[in-house]
Amino acid sequence: MGWISSDNEHEGWAAPEAPDGRHSGSSSSAGMHVKGITGRWPRDPQLDGYEIVPDKDIVGWRGVCECGWRGELWERAQTLAAADLDRRRDYVAPEDFADASPQVEDAIHEEWKAHIAPSEAVLGVEAAARDHKQAGARLDKTVAAARAAGASWADIGRAVGISRQSAHERWSTQ
Ligand SMILES: [Zn+2]
Repeated sequence: MGWISSDNEHEGWAAPEAPDGRHSGSSSSAGMHVKGITGRWPRDPQLDGYEIVPDKDIVGWRGVCECGWRGELWERAQTLAAADLDRRRDYVAPEDFADASPQVEDAIHEEWKAHIAPSEAVLGVEAAARDHKQAGARLDKTVAAARAAGASWADIGRAVGISRQSAHERWSTQ
């Protein structure tokens, strides 16, 4: 269980949803373990502060992320005939474990990936910015060495691809 983003900032999963909107992060043969005590369901004998919602009571599934993000609900159809994945409805028999089906789990995984896409993309920018900074420091160093070796601002400007004047303005005070 659980998908983790490259920066470890996001952990998501396909969470079964209780009728009161709470989500489960773990299950056992007794049902879905849900945090909080409402008195509506039996208390979890193992996990303090949790209730056990029977599998038959689960109303659907939703992408949940530790950061607080919530996906759209995938509704649990009452009958097999009412199941329609295009309309976000899936059927799991009342006597079965109420985990999301593999199809719904995959669909929720895709939704979660779309949720983390911006932060994953920003990691690329971070890496490029780091390289850019290092390259800039190397450029400053080699320019200083070239000046020390007697190169003119015109020579340096030509090597960098800028004018003599620009090279002078950029590095003469360093
Ligand atoms: Zn997240």
